[in-house]
Amino acid sequence: MKVSKFGGSSVATASQIKKVLDIVNEDSERRIIVVSAPGKRHDQDTKTTDLLIRLYEKVINNLDYTHKKGEILERFEEIVNELHIDTQIITEIDETLEHLINTLKNQPERLLDALKSSGENFNAQIIAAYNNSIGIKTLYLSPKEAGIIVSNEPGNAQILESSYDKIYELTRYDEKIIIPGFFGYSEEGHIVTFPRGGSDITGAIVARGVKAQLYENFTDVSGIYRANPKIINRPEIISEITYREMRELSYAGFGVFHDEALQPLYHYRIPVVIKNTNRPSDPGTFIVYDRQIDPQKVMTGISCDEGFTSINIKKYLMNREVGFTVKILNILAEHNISFDHMPSGIDNISIIMRSAQIKGKEQKVLEAIRRECEIDELNIEHDLAILMVVGEGMSAAIGTANKVTSALAEANINLKMINQGSSEISMMFGISNADAQKAVKACYQNFYND
Ligand code: ASP
Repeated sequence: MKVSKFGGSSVATASQIKKVLDIVNEDSERRIIVVSAPGKRHDQDTKTTDLLIRLYEKVINNLDYTHKKGEILERFEEIVNELHIDTQIITEIDETLEHLINTLKNQPERLLDALKSSGENFNAQIIAAYNNSIGIKTLYLSPKEAGIIVSNEPGNAQILESSYDKIYELTRYDEKIIIPGFFGYSEEGHIVTFPRGGSDITGAIVARGVKAQLYENFTDVSGIYRANPKIINRPEIISEITYREMRELSYAGFGVFHDEALQPLYHYRIPVVIKNTNRPSDPGTFIVYDRQIDPQKVMTGISCDEGFTSINIKKYLMNREVGFTVKILNILAEHNISFDHMPSGIDNISIIMRSAQIKGKEQKVLEAIRRECEIDELNIEHDLAILMVVGEGMSAAIGTANKVTSALAEANINLKMINQGSSEISMMFGISNADAQKAVKACYQNFYND
């Protein structure tokens, strides 16, 4: 059995939905389908989820929301009309939105999650109705009916381990099943959404629950590129990548597949394939537990993400002071800041975090470090970018760091720091935001176009 998930652009219009169902219906192993809300129809368009968030903002600020709700209804109406299914569903969507607004308007976090999730919820119902109308027995199941029970953290749901047994029962159905992505239900019965882009997470949870042989993730590109196609002209598509490589690359900006979606898949090592709804016969990129390394291509991908901050600390004889790092990390923990990298030398340490983590807390954190850690020097550096080069083959290859540093030097890019984790599948280079694109170009050229 395969679990197939279709992203927002794949289900943005009636004609896209028809393509999706052609793909689904031609393969009897595609039994469980997870869908997103209608995404962008063109570059200037707005995703339905964003329209729903704007609707929430109107409601919560006591503003007239009729127009915003109208825009949402229009999007679904266009789809329903073109699919020639019963337009009664539009009345039901309208009533559901009104009901959510009326019952939850005094609980902002609940209302936001309920409205945000309804894009996928309505779309799943429409898609199931259309498939039935063309004669394929199809069942819409809400995440509650499918057994997706999650933690009670609005906007940041985590699946509860106990859900998986119930999800396994989905294997018993003969019909095609369509489940809306992006949300589950808490044990108390509230709608709780995953982080943005979270339909990938639903797909992964369902794939693990039913022990699928493959999790297909359909999107609008034919796989994962070795580097951002907005920076590199027609980069190569990766044919196979490991979970670990994917995690490192998506951390640093590869947006094709949600990084949290890998976690449920580890357990049964379920492979994922990223495929293109518009070119379904393209082979796509397989994300797998383990793979053969091609010694000619040790570098799997290059990514660069902007918006980091580094706290740099110097102290003479730092290496001799037991518990020094713990004191610093405690200060960060007290301010609820998570960090990403911690390159260090014998007398210095840098702590690198996403700038949003420390925003508004900077002065307090620096004061606390000065007060509690008896340091010699302290400074903070903003506008950092993190360049990641990732590849399972790196551990056995010689000269990878050299290739990156010489590419950066030739491009006249100042390298602020280097860090390599013990897994040796990635190297991280700290550079300035302004150099981010130039760095990706220089490295790509050096690795793949030589
Ligand atoms: N519709 C949600 C979003 O835009 C979830 C998803 O598409 O995966 O974030």
